[in-house]
Amino acid sequence: MSLSLSWSIKRVNTKFEFKIARSAFSHYERVILELRDGEHLAYGEAAPNIRYEGGCEEIVAMLDAKKDQVLELPIDDAESRQKTIENMFPDSFSLQAALDTLFWDLYAKRLDKPLWQIFGAKKDMVISSYTIGISDLSAIPAKIEEAAPFPILKIKLGTDYDHDIIRAIRAETDKVLRVDVNEGWKSVDEAKRGTEWLIEENVEFLEQPMPADQLDDIAKLREFSPIPIVADENSVRPEDLKGLVGAYDGINIKLMKCGGLTNARKMVELSQKYGFDIMMGCMLETSVGISAMAQLGSFARWLDLDGNVLIADDPYLGVGNVGGKMILNDKPGLGVQPR
Ligand SMILES: [Mg+2]
Repeated sequence: MSLSLSWSIKRVNTKFEFKIARSAFSHYERVILELRDGEHLAYGEAAPNIRYEGGCEEIVAMLDAKKDQVLELPIDDAESRQKTIENMFPDSFSLQAALDTLFWDLYAKRLDKPLWQIFGAKKDMVISSYTIGISDLSAIPAKIEEAAPFPILKIKLGTDYDHDIIRAIRAETDKVLRVDVNEGWKSVDEAKRGTEWLIEENVEFLEQPMPADQLDDIAKLREFSPIPIVADENSVRPEDLKGLVGAYDGINIKLMKCGGLTNARKMVELSQKYGFDIMMGCMLETSVGISAMAQLGSFARWLDLDGNVLIADDPYLGVGNVGGKMILNDKPGLGVQPR
């Protein structure tokens, strides 16, 4: 049966303004793709991040230009499909991810199996963290209250008032904290001071403390740090991992960086080879993107799959999240449907 492809831009609003060291937004646009074969309907999401690429208009223009070629992508051969997708759309990692997800969803639906089962993953996975973005100090108590159901918090730092942020959070809660600096510390000395201080505040690990192009500095910090250092902006694609040995303890895999589930699986394999602990994260994605990453969630030591719970008006239903406990369903494919 012949395939038909459609897409739409969905605007989603966040519960709070989402601010990190380099940007701040209270709404996002995402491109949702739908692929039909007459019997099944498959989904994919592109949630472009401004650090890595342009916006949704660019993605739609790319799709307009190459729709016919997309419809010729193989459904049963993920490896060759991924290569073709990367050659067709080298400038958009999130579109690569959307397309790869779309075809995996259709593939699994035709087999009438959930994707996690096809991937050899388990339904059960570790508790996901809940992200507290950067904000005015006065907003912190409300955010901590909103985060009440979640036992693990991921804190965004990289401001000139980091100490005040942690102090304000610690005044409210003694939960497990993980810290993401988003490349915010620029020198080894600054990073060492920050790390020493965060250890006293009982932080579990540190994500991307310094700019991605300061790998030697990060290696020095890692030697010094008793808590794990996890790459995010440094661990974009599968081919990045080899170069991170010695500089990081763990890597954060995100579909919107790596280009989809096919590459995410490759990164899982390479992490096992190079001895990295695996974290899986997300952008502010709807339940389409979050459910896709969750299919591989059981391979992760740490999960940060909270994008859909940070959105106030997620248009989709998929993987559940009850207090950070991700709940996969047994429906075929991604197990996603419109809300
Ligand atoms: Mg990060």
